[in-house]
Amino acid sequence: MTAPPDPRTFTFVHPRGRVEVRPAWTRAEVHAQVEALLCTWEAKLPTERSARIVLKPNLNNDLVALTGNCADLRVITALIEALHRRGYRDLTVADGSNVGIERRNISTFRRLRLDKLSARLGFATVDLNRDEGRRIPLHAGAEPLVANTVLDADFLISVPKVKTHAEAGLSCAMKNWVGICVGQDKRHMHQDLGRNIFALSEVVQADLVLVDGLVGMQGNGPGDGDPVRLGLLAMSDDPFLNDVVVARLVGMPLEAVPYLRHALDAGVVDAALVARVDAEVPVVRAIVRAPPRSKLAELSEAPSLLWLKKAVRPVVALPAVAELAYRAKITQDVYSLEDDTLRLEARDPGACGTCRTCEDFCPTGLRVEDIGVKLELPDCVQCLYCWWVCPNDALRLGGEAHAMQRQIDRYKGPIEAL
Ligand code: SF4
Ligand code: SF4
Repeated sequence: MTAPPDPRTFTFVHPRGRVEVRPAWTRAEVHAQVEALLCTWEAKLPTERSARIVLKPNLNNDLVALTGNCADLRVITALIEALHRRGYRDLTVADGSNVGIERRNISTFRRLRLDKLSARLGFATVDLNRDEGRRIPLHAGAEPLVANTVLDADFLISVPKVKTHAEAGLSCAMKNWVGICVGQDKRHMHQDLGRNIFALSEVVQADLVLVDGLVGMQGNGPGDGDPVRLGLLAMSDDPFLNDVVVARLVGMPLEAVPYLRHALDAGVVDAALVARVDAEVPVVRAIVRAPPRSKLAELSEAPSLLWLKKAVRPVVALPAVAELAYRAKITQDVYSLEDDTLRLEARDPGACGTCRTCEDFCPTGLRVEDIGVKLELPDCVQCLYCWWVCPNDALRLGGEAHAMQRQIDRYKGPIEAL
């Protein structure tokens, strides 16, 4: 008897473009699928091997990728290595994290170990929050500065996550573009978030999209949702088509995603396409939507009340007040300014038995025998994915958790259970 086909294996073709979806969970599967997907888009890649290729992952926050918030280093590694194999050398990973991160001068590149991965693989990194930019007029008076690194790229690859978003409904390729606005200029987008996400995606088009749908986020995303195993990758040459298909994959109706509603209203996506997607694309996993935002949460983000927000900022920054705002569901994030100094120090082989789980998650491809043994670059980037997924407490960490403590308390259990 042959096994039924995996519902995460299909290609959706439309005059706008196509979306290819493939199952993947382990590091080996991620590498095999990224290579296979790129093969099908070979003709789309730049002919000049000296082309400046910019990868724009979602580094929204300092939450480790396995929470579902940020780009998985396994996906970035697989894509960089696949491009290197094709002879491309001018590769940059660039993003501008959210306004709370930016205002506190936190480096998500450091906290998520992108800095170490870049040293290992030899790609450049650019914090788009510190980039020069050009103003792009959108709607409702929004005219954000958009990063030159993105605007001047020869080839642009969007690498979004799949996660719920309290205001935007769903975050995938189109929502990922908010991160190309420089620093606090992201606030311009909120003057009419749905319309502006749609408009910015029209003006600045990604050449290729690689969706990191390994671990997604459901519930109170993007900053405080729950990780959910989706186990898929998707590649597309059209962000609009991509997001309509991905919304269907996770059971998210388009009415719940304001920027897709605007794409429908504008005729970029039409009812016939939506009907075809509903008929042909399976719901792989219906994720829990973000809960409605409280009135206080909405008020706290109202552009017209930004002056008030600035005035009370010294009080809100007090740890006890920030904690209170989080518990009252006014904010999703509580930031700490102190970077963690956590390091993997050792593995207790006696605790492992037949388990090899950590091997599937190590972005650098270390085998169990070397995890906790080969501890320096280039072998280990200290991402701690192995520790996050370890169910047997077999890995010993050194250093101080600082900013990481909060996410350890919140996410260690849910990540082990993925
Ligand atoms: S051994 Fe662990 S900490 Fe080191 S790169 Fe692999 S997963 Fe990350
Ligand atoms: S995940 Fe933990 S228990 Fe499993 S092999 Fe790795 S270190 Fe050992």
